[in-house]
Amino acid sequence: MEAFVMEREDMARVREMPAWSSVFNDGMADFWVGEVLWQQPMSEYTTYRVGGPAQAMVFPCGIRELASLLDGVCRLDIPWRVIGGGSNILVSDKGLEGVTIVLTKGFSAKTIVHEVDDHVLVKVETGCSLASFVNWCVEHGLTGMEFAVGIPGSIGGAMVMNAGAFGGEISKVLGSVTLMNSQGEVVEKEACRMNYTYRNWGEERGQIALEGLFALRRGDSQAIRTSCRKLLKKRQTHQPKGPSCGSFFRNPPGAETAGYLIEKAGLKGTRVGGAEISKIHANFLINRGNASARDLVRLMELVQNEVEQKFGVFLEPEVKLLGFEPG
Ligand SMILES: Cc1cc2nc3c(=O)[nH]c(=O)nc-3n(C[C@H](O)[C@H](O)[C@H](O)COP(=O)(O)OP(=O)(O)OC[C@H]3O[C@@H](n4cnc5c(N)ncnc54)[C@H](O)[C@@H]3O)c2cc1C
Repeated sequence: MEAFVMEREDMARVREMPAWSSVFNDGMADFWVGEVLWQQPMSEYTTYRVGGPAQAMVFPCGIRELASLLDGVCRLDIPWRVIGGGSNILVSDKGLEGVTIVLTKGFSAKTIVHEVDDHVLVKVETGCSLASFVNWCVEHGLTGMEFAVGIPGSIGGAMVMNAGAFGGEISKVLGSVTLMNSQGEVVEKEACRMNYTYRNWGEERGQIALEGLFALRRGDSQAIRTSCRKLLKKRQTHQPKGPSCGSFFRNPPGAETAGYLIEKAGLKGTRVGGAEISKIHANFLINRGNASARDLVRLMELVQNEVEQKFGVFLEPEVKLLGFEPG
């Protein structure tokens, strides 16, 4: 098996890593032949633009490559996680230990696999961006994905987060999801038999979404395009522009949204370091340009405390916190 080549600069970075990483470096050539990026700043891979270095970052492009990688990291007991477009993760300033698997370089195909009357089934691979899929649907005159216009990130992230807006959500248009577990086994699950709920796909940790089968319908391209434009305009008027992860908190059960409670608590515009509660949309915690992950977490805690004190409601983050100590 061809060994991977390490640049001199990378070697210097590797020397700064904790002791267990030498096991990783020695063992890795047996199961991974692709490129490895060492100590990559996560601020470059997240829409929040914060986060310390990912110790090792890899970009598998095929199922066999991914399965071999998982087999290796699990055998060597190396911590790992998968990310997509990084639009719903907040990474600690310390960064991420082990291997960060990025699935947005390969896995990007979109294929019509079945068509009867006006019903169309489309298979979309995990690394495809949601934006490119929505555009593709507009071009092909397929209706059903308009709600997702303007949501950043990948199809994989959207399936995991059950991304939604304007009354639509991914699980409502998803026929099935193909998954890989940490042993590299691949199964296809019908979406209706998965435990999809609000912003959650209900799968165990360690499952990787490989592709989704979307049930769409033939429609009028021009009407679909017009509807997308209207929704995009609505989004642009109601959402702030600075680096963020969209809505930070999940809406609590009941009629009042997280944004409404934060605004009612008088917190709009509150700052901690470089992090600020948007004045435009109170559920957006934005990075004003120089925020650290710590600033954002302290702002999150401030919001949680104030809202709980005032209304007795604890706001759970929708954003996934990675690389932080538990608790
Ligand atoms: C400006 C802005 C607006 C937004 N608006 C909305 C909105 O309207 N509605 C909405 O729902 N969200 C919204 N979001 C949040 C975000 O875009 C979505 O949650 C998106 O679907 C996340 O996709 P991603 O590829 O970026 O996932 P990431 O952020 O990379 O990952 C999110 C989670 O999914 C996991 N994951 C990613 N890919 C896989 C995979 N293939 N297999 C297994 N696990 C995986 C990660 O480990 C992580 O836990 C917005 C974000 C921004 C920045």
